Amino acid sequence: MKKPKIVVLGAGYGGIMTTVHLQKKLGTNDAEITLVNKNDYHYETTWLHEVSAGTLHHDRSRFPVKSLINTGKVNFVKDTVMDINTAEKRVILENSELEYDYLVVGLGYESETFGIKGLKEYAFSIANINAARQIREHIDYVFATYNNEPVKRDELLTIVVGGAGFTGIEFVGELANRVPQLCKEFDIPREKVRIICVEAAPTALPGFDPELVEYAVTQLERKGVEFKIGTAIKECTEEGILVEKDDQVEEIKSATVVWAAGVRGSHIIEKAGFENNRCRVKVSNSLLAPGHEDVFIVGDCSFMINPENDRPYPPTAQVAMQQGETCAENIARLIRGEKELKEFKADLKGTVCSLGHDDAIGVVYGRKLFGSSASFMKKVVDNRSLFLQGGAGLVLKKGKFNFF
Ligand code: FAD
Ligand code: NAD
Repeated sequence: MKKPKIVVLGAGYGGIMTTVHLQKKLGTNDAEITLVNKNDYHYETTWLHEVSAGTLHHDRSRFPVKSLINTGKVNFVKDTVMDINTAEKRVILENSELEYDYLVVGLGYESETFGIKGLKEYAFSIANINAARQIREHIDYVFATYNNEPVKRDELLTIVVGGAGFTGIEFVGELANRVPQLCKEFDIPREKVRIICVEAAPTALPGFDPELVEYAVTQLERKGVEFKIGTAIKECTEEGILVEKDDQVEEIKSATVVWAAGVRGSHIIEKAGFENNRCRVKVSNSLLAPGHEDVFIVGDCSFMINPENDRPYPPTAQVAMQQGETCAENIARLIRGEKELKEFKADLKGTVCSLGHDDAIGVVYGRKLFGSSASFMKKVVDNRSLFLQGGAGLVLKKGKFNFF
């Protein structure tokens, strides 16, 4: 009998966890498993704020896909997904095509700019590892430029971060630690540098525990971060940004604007014709795309309501990894001819938000944490993610052990 072909798109958290569990559940005679990713490495998206700020080298945050999978059971294809033809059960890659019987889409997120003028052209975003490397290089470059121009331009030393959600806050936390090093390196007085975090909502980290938010803002302000709360970015230009608060528009001149104010799913979702909202597909409880019995969607390309609170699950690595496990189980059941699929139910353990490598806030199993205990927990979470993907060996190679 012909072996069913399983194709997994994306070697991020969702795709890797699906593949790792598929290779455990299925034998080589049960199915032909192919994993496709645009790079031959996986990177830890949850560490990209550090790569962007230059507090973590990009090589620390990435590792070969082949070190995570059993190449005896999984065929890895390094290529870029261009489109999916669900009618013909084919995936169109930049360099070839693949046929599937079961497809898993785990292509991750892209920056959501909400149509705000100039953002796509002039702002950076922490969208992937190479975008993060570009931000780091750009910041180094503008600091290096500052003392080498006849007339000093303060905007070279003004970094604007759009959004005080978890990404924005984690990024400014890293920047606040990195800036003193940069100042020393490039002979720049620290007081010349401005890190401005602009948030449209009436508070930073909207929806998070107010006591922890206050702690985070106070700590970051102490390290020199300026917050503009209740202030929306309206436009980005070559010179900087326009923000609006109480109907007053202000221009902030800046050579570095990093947009960290929202995400959407991969554009491939829309291109392939899946019913979607901002490139996220409302999947069934078993993670199937609507109208499909052979296409599963995991991670940031999926959208699901948490039945416990009737609110959408946030697009997080925590959810993506757990979805990967359920998705693999469901594909294994279909291949074994079982009719009943497993329902996805996230086991949300909490959220920890770093404020640099030495400080953090979080709520874990309902308990509030801040300072060194939260920072310790953040590293435990980071190491656990490595363990789930690649076992103890990967933790030893890439783990974070600078606990204090
Ligand atoms: P990803 O992990 O982003 O992986 C997508 C993969 O698909 C990548 O390998 C990419 O290269 C590949 N790919 C994309 N397009 C193509 C294509 N066309 N062809 C081939 N391959 C392609 N969540 C948490 O739970 N905890 C955290 O602490 C946390 N911190 C975060 C910090 C930052 C700075 C950011 C930006 C996000 C953070 N998140 C965190 C959210 C989390 O990173 C995402 O929810 C998670 O990465 C989604 O997983 P995924 O598998 O859907 O996509
Ligand atoms: P987000 O959508 O959670 O936050 C974006 C922020 O930008 C919001 O506070 C929003 O009010 C603000 N904003 C939107 N438009 C604006 C404008 N025009 N001007 C100024 N501010 C504006 O996005 P995110 O922070 O990138 O997070 C994406 C996902 O990744 C979330 O699910 C988050 O939980 C997850 N994440 C988790 C962690 C963690 O657990 N440590 C870290 C980073 C990201």
